[in-house]
Amino acid sequence: MADWEVGVFTSIDAGLGVQLQVAQDLEIKTIQLHAPKRTSRTPDNADRFLGQLKDLGIELTCVFGGFDGESYADIPTVTDTVGLVPSKTRAERLREMREIADFARLLECDVVALHLGFVPHDRTESLYQEVVDVTRQLCGHAEQNDQAVHLETGQETADGLLQFIDDTGCENLFINFDPANMILYGTGQPIEALTKLGPKVRSVHCKDATWSDKPGETWGSEVPLGEGQVDIEAYLRTLKEIGYLGPLTIEREIPQEPERQKAEIAHASTLLRRLASEIL
Ligand code: MG
Repeated sequence: MADWEVGVFTSIDAGLGVQLQVAQDLEIKTIQLHAPKRTSRTPDNADRFLGQLKDLGIELTCVFGGFDGESYADIPTVTDTVGLVPSKTRAERLREMREIADFARLLECDVVALHLGFVPHDRTESLYQEVVDVTRQLCGHAEQNDQAVHLETGQETADGLLQFIDDTGCENLFINFDPANMILYGTGQPIEALTKLGPKVRSVHCKDATWSDKPGETWGSEVPLGEGQVDIEAYLRTLKEIGYLGPLTIEREIPQEPERQKAEIAHASTLLRRLASEIL
């Protein structure tokens, strides 16, 4: 794969992300995949999908887990519903995330990723240790599959995330850096965060956003790439500084407007290719 190959976040069924057809139409050669529903995660479907990717010359770089019952409606709802943090659903979701990792293995994919949820900021809280424990269990399973686990950024500050990864002691635990999420959740200036996270960043999203007037309390707004407050040129220059040359995976979550979504991904792809040719 070429350095900074443009990618796009996709899904097969009702998950987040665009259909594979969009990648094909826009001549995008790498994808991340939102894990399909349990009923679709069969060996036959894996074979079929893998065949399709090979025919299209598209490389799958990461499978993202997601769970029933998750809601991104507002920040408190994320705390209550997302990832492996909520205790009520934790055991079941760990089981499902292991299945997703096994499905990713069938797709010959070495990376699984997820929104872990809001890790408590107080390390002495018992919930903090519980989240460390469940992350170790997931990483242990991924290790048996020769896979890494990437945590999506957003809910934690850069310092909090580094501390958390360190506390797990897992050597296959890394970061999927999403600069827009730092703004949307109000957890820090993305460029500064990226510099801190440095070598732990092993995959990225290219997404843009504007700050909320009450950061950390209410959402910022996701906007088309280049129109927000990430500063995409500075983002790419910083990725180069930290030595990241992997895929630049565009994420644009407006599934209710597929035409606009596709047009904005096309625009993002053009922007990234132009900037890459100037910066690399
Ligand atoms: Mg993202």
